[in-house]
Amino acid sequence: MSQSRLASCIPLPLDNKVLSNVVEKAKDWALMHGVGMRDKAHFSKDTIQIAPFVLLPSPFPRTEFTKAVDLQPVLNELMHKVSHDDEFLEKTLQNALEVDDFTAKLYNIWIKVREEGITQPISLGMLRSDIMLESRCPHTENQCAKHTPYCSWKQVEINSIASGFGHLGPSLSLGLFRSDYLMQQPDSNRIKQVEFNTVAASFGAITSYLPTMFRYILRQLGHGELIKNMPENRALSGLCSGIIEAYDMFGVPSAVVLFVVEEVSYNICDQRFHEFEISEKRPDIMIYRKTLNEIYEEAELNDKKQLVIEGRPVAVVYYRSGYEPAQYPSQKEWDARLRVERSSAIKCPSIHYQLAGTKKVQQALAAPGALERFVAEGELRSRVRDIFTGLYSLDFDDSGERAVEMAIADAERFVLKPQREGGGNNLYGADVKEALLRMRHSRERAAYILMERILPPLISGYVVRPNAAVPPSLCDLVSELGIFGVIIGSKEKIYSNRQVGHMLRTKLADANEGGVAAGLGALDSPYLL
Ligand code: ADP
Ligand code: MG
Ligand code: MG
Repeated sequence: MSQSRLASCIPLPLDNKVLSNVVEKAKDWALMHGVGMRDKAHFSKDTIQIAPFVLLPSPFPRTEFTKAVDLQPVLNELMHKVSHDDEFLEKTLQNALEVDDFTAKLYNIWIKVREEGITQPISLGMLRSDIMLESRCPHTENQCAKHTPYCSWKQVEINSIASGFGHLGPSLSLGLFRSDYLMQQPDSNRIKQVEFNTVAASFGAITSYLPTMFRYILRQLGHGELIKNMPENRALSGLCSGIIEAYDMFGVPSAVVLFVVEEVSYNICDQRFHEFEISEKRPDIMIYRKTLNEIYEEAELNDKKQLVIEGRPVAVVYYRSGYEPAQYPSQKEWDARLRVERSSAIKCPSIHYQLAGTKKVQQALAAPGALERFVAEGELRSRVRDIFTGLYSLDFDDSGERAVEMAIADAERFVLKPQREGGGNNLYGADVKEALLRMRHSRERAAYILMERILPPLISGYVVRPNAAVPPSLCDLVSELGIFGVIIGSKEKIYSNRQVGHMLRTKLADANEGGVAAGLGALDSPYLL
């Protein structure tokens, strides 16, 4: 079956002159409101350039958006419980640890602080659950009596301006005219979880400004009335409220908040907006930015196990780095991580939260019986299970063997994922097959999980990139929605748990990955259908 297509918020394509004009306005709006990043090719602390963004908000079904938002506190609690279930984490990660040095190093820090006795029982989770719409009907004709009528395509709009698309999805040809189609079957375009981020989940800040940018753009195009379909996004204030609440729970007036940052921060706007927001709301809270190396050099533990920097205790540590091997170039960075973990500071995330965010844990939660351990029987559990897609362990057992054979036979159906964060680490299509043929008899394969590839509906749109030709051309795109959550608690008690906002990223439909920081995706905001 072909990919369905969601109707764009306004008829496309736009006239070239109109398009060029509005792109120039949009770029200036973006630059002047911090929808930006530092230039990787010509890095300078004195300049920022626009972050890639889509010109128009991408369509997203309202019911699925609401479903994702409503489910977030349930997922927050699930991850909180997983991160405090020592036995589950140990068992789940065991095989991967033997072949994945990075995860093993994180794990060893966890073991060490547990042996010493955890100093700070409270964790701050600033989480992001990433979701795509699955456009395929999960049923075959034999399985689903309703299949034939529901799988019909309904034409919702015909654009009368010649478009560049040859392929129309359904087997219908309209010559030079492009049509937008909406799947009408109830089982398609349902949300499926891509992954769950527990460390350095970014873009909550910048994307909080995007609804305002899109309102401006839509008004410039004469469609101001459509802004009613754009949900507000308070991710920035919501995420910062988590840091402030944790700070107050720490309860030491002279304490500071520490942001752990990369050696070079390209995603500076997103990070700084958090600092500005906290400073505005709470002028009494001072924020330090330090790399792991600087923490190694400058931070120490006092006799109360407080992490002390420049004579001031640290109340909250917020990691915007420390999630990938390159961010630990030497033993010093690992020592710094251990020192922070040993301290009384409230960590976002604590080491066990980071371990709970691994792909291996995501896969284990989808295995039969696992969710039962954490979510009581009932509607909530089935709602969580409903967003899981096929996830398979590649361990050396019967099911692992079956998964390897299944993926080799039909590699296009799968994504192969190592225990990594930050984008650009997964394998797709022919590479899945090649890697599995190579690792078939090697323990190395236990470092990966296999995941069913989600096929999201197509969206038509324009991507605005720095230094790119204007006007941009109309492209086929797909989106990934992230829902942010904040949770604060210890093993025994959850003090706060809420959904705080969202972000949408959109990429070219034929690109495997869409990380914005990695330069592949574009910032977006949902337009609810
Ligand atoms: P990371 O932690 O590195 O961000 P992800 O699991 O989010 O890892 O994968 C990176 C990107 O790969 C996602 O943002 C998405 O674009 C794509 N991707 C991951 N899993 C799937 C999947 N099952 N189906 C389709 N695309 C996927
Ligand atoms: Mg991730
Ligand atoms: Mg991701």
